[in-house]
Amino acid sequence: MAIRALVTGKTSNGVSTSLTDVGIADLGEGDVTVAIEWSTVNYKDGLALSGGRIIQSFPMIGGIDFAGVVEASDNPLFKAGDRVVANGWGLSQTHNGGYAQKARVPGEWLIPLAEAFTTRQAMAIGTAGYTAMLCILALEHGGLTPGKGDVLVTGASGGVGSIAILLLSALGYRVVASTGRASEADYLHQLGAAEIIDRALLSAPGRPIAAERWAGAIDSVGSHTLANILAQTKYRGVVAACGLAQGMDLPASVAPFILRNVTLAGIDSVNAPRELRIQAWARLVRDLKPDKLASTVSEITLADVPRAAADILKGQLRGRTVVNLNA
Ligand code: NDP
Repeated sequence: MAIRALVTGKTSNGVSTSLTDVGIADLGEGDVTVAIEWSTVNYKDGLALSGGRIIQSFPMIGGIDFAGVVEASDNPLFKAGDRVVANGWGLSQTHNGGYAQKARVPGEWLIPLAEAFTTRQAMAIGTAGYTAMLCILALEHGGLTPGKGDVLVTGASGGVGSIAILLLSALGYRVVASTGRASEADYLHQLGAAEIIDRALLSAPGRPIAAERWAGAIDSVGSHTLANILAQTKYRGVVAACGLAQGMDLPASVAPFILRNVTLAGIDSVNAPRELRIQAWARLVRDLKPDKLASTVSEITLADVPRAAADILKGQLRGRTVVNLNA
């Protein structure tokens, strides 16, 4: 049976993505076949479809996330009918990903999807939301509690930022959202932000150490923004760094570490161990309110993905974008 897929190939001047039919043999190695119901668009998907050195062999079906139902399994962890979610690993890098009606992957890449979430909600969360939870686990590991003071979320209107605000506010933190989009103030307040600041306050070169402001922070922006956050973090505060929307550089000093005992926690979702993923998804079940999640979601079809992938790189998508594989 033909499988509808969005395939990215190499061209003389970059990459090109088109909707096509593939066969089961084209999906790649694996011991579990999944009928995909929903996928999603993350910043990394934007990079992959624009030729940004994510895809390591061509042609490749992109999409770093998918959720669906197991169709066939030779892996003892799964049986036909199980609902599953996959985030990262080799998807869209070395192995075909979620922009297809089916995937064939190693079972170890799959997490059983909790009853609490539909496959659509799992993709509304996606890598962005699961990464937001990894950041929260790191902040908690660093000793952050709601009583310690304000927590900053940068890239607030984006995927990681939106879900980080939802989660932190549900956990009782006072959340300050940093955004370049003043027009999204109502949206950010509805998610749970107590205060909104202009991201321009953080994005220019700053001093190595500054007045103490943040008990904790989740940063998806990097560069001068992360350097300024570190300089403004309170004594024994903790910062989780997961992204590079402003830049990959970190023009900072050691002053916040050696004078204020600040902790900088690095976050990687792609190769996170399976046990940590299971813990993060269990905490998402506990801490994420599905009705509030709905306000972050836009829905598109496979054919719309290339445009959405271009838009996310321009910072023009709000919240989370889910892809319906059956539309
Ligand atoms: P989004 O594009 O949805 O969100 C990024 C947000 O950053 C934008 O919405 C915008 O928010 C802000 N932003 C964009 N450009 C700039 C800029 N030049 N300067 C300052 N802020 C900017 O992407 P995701 O939420 O999917 O991903 C966010 C980041 O986290 C990306 O860099 C991504 O690669 C990374 N990431 C890393 C993971 C990991 O495993 N470490 C996993 C998931 C994501 P606003 O308009 O509100 O200012």
